[in-house]
Formats: sequence, C-alpha cells, structure tokens
Amino acid sequence: MIIDAHTHIGDMGKDDRVVTVADLLESMDDAHIDMSLILANDIIVPNDWHGVTADDVLTQRAENERIKVIGNISISRDIKAQLMQLQSHIETGAIVGIKMYPGYENFDSTDKRLMPVYEFCQKLHVPVILHTGFLLQGSSGIQEQAHPNSIGKIATLFPEITIVMAHFGNPWTIEAAKIIAQHQNVYADLSGFFTEYDEHISLDEKADFQQKMKEFVHITGNLKKCLFGTDWPLYSQKEYLAAMQELPMNDEERELVFSKNAIKVFGLEKE
Ligand SMILES: [Zn+2]
Repeated sequence: MIIDAHTHIGDMGKDDRVVTVADLLESMDDAHIDMSLILANDIIVPNDWHGVTADDVLTQRAENERIKVIGNISISRDIKAQLMQLQSHIETGAIVGIKMYPGYENFDSTDKRLMPVYEFCQKLHVPVILHTGFLLQGSSGIQEQAHPNSIGKIATLFPEITIVMAHFGNPWTIEAAKIIAQHQNVYADLSGFFTEYDEHISLDEKADFQQKMKEFVHITGNLKKCLFGTDWPLYSQKEYLAAMQELPMNDEERELVFSKNAIKVFGLEKE
C-alpha cells in the first residue's frame, strides 16, 4: 500500500491551474498510489492567495476513502472559532490532522497564540503538521520562522502530540534529523524537495536528494519516522514516487515510509 501524506488542491497547478480531487485521483491511478492526504491551506498571506478550506476538500472528496483530509489553522483568524469548526469533523474522523504554516504566515511554531491549538491536539489526539524549510518561490513570508529547531521546542512542551515536519526541514535537513532523533513524537514527510513544476526530476536533483537523505539517516539511524509525501500538484506523484523508491531502504523501512507511518500517525484504517 502506498500513501502520499502531502498533497493539495486548488490553484496550485502549473500556471495557477486549479486542480481538483478528480485530477488527484487520476494522478494516483497513474502512479499506483492508494491513498492521498489533502492538506487545507486557508491562510492569510499578503499576496493574492486563494487558499482551500477543509470544507472545500471535504465537499469535493465526497467521502471517497482514498482521500483523507487535513484541516488547517490560520493564525490571522479567530483561533478558538477555527478549532470549534474543526472539532466535529475530527470527532467523526473526517479530518485526521491539523496543518499550520509558520513562515508563510508571520509566526513561529512556538508563538504563544498557538498554545490553544497544541492543547486541543493533545486533548483530541490529533497530529499536527508544521511547515518547515523553504518557502515557495515568490512567497512574501519569512523562511527563518520555519526552522526545524522551533519544532523541537514544541515537541518538548507537548510530548504527547505527534508532530510531522513537512518537507523534513529542507534546507535544514540535518537540524531536522537531530530533532527527530531526539524526540520520539516527531516525524517528517519527505515532500517538496525538488524544483517546483519541472516536467521531470533531474538526475542532479535526485543525487542531491539521495545525499541529503544519506546525511539524514546517518543522524536518525533509520527511516522509521519518515513519511512518503510529494506536495502534488507541484510535482508529478509518479516521478516523486520513483525518486523515493531509489533510496536505499530495507523491506521494513519501505513499508513504514510508504504506508505504515502514515497509518500510525494519522490513525488511518488499513484498507
Ligand atoms: Zn504543501
């Protein structure tokens, strides 16, 4: 079973093309991916951003079991109201995690305004995904706010919450690996590494990815806390999956990275 733990819909396709759940399902069929998580991104940023809400995703998903939904919290809106809105969906299992976008929005993961979100996640046993690393080209955000070291602080304050670092902290992959090695509750998705919207992943970029992963595994000791993810539609799922499959992994790691970790972190039913 293969699970892509990081995808989006909306106007994130090449040249702002709006992509839908139907497009994603088509891509999944082509790449032989069984399940994808769609991350809502309804955040407030200075440029003309049209984010997608978890409700938008839930409507489009139409209860298709191959699609799972991650809600999001925007620091720029009433946090309590957003949590209340997410709660019922979390309780029914329609939403399986919460994403936040430090750096893109003007905050750091340790921002005091977010403490109610972490307390909520702890109480409801909901995993939280935090953006780490590079911001998209042209973004107006502050990259430094998305440093993996902030995740270490949250992991210490809330050891019962499962935290996923999106993009394994890239370019700070060594720092990300150190946090993952230290904290049992921190995982990483391996999405968003390559040049966005390139038709093919180049051999140079694949070599760079393999080198970064080699350093990463040298610190963490294994791939036991890594999740396969792409950040589709910024990349082809099929090409990303092929690049991932070239990483040296034993059978146990392969199973963990491509499905078991995501099943465990997000409480997904094994189909
Ligand atoms: Zn993403």
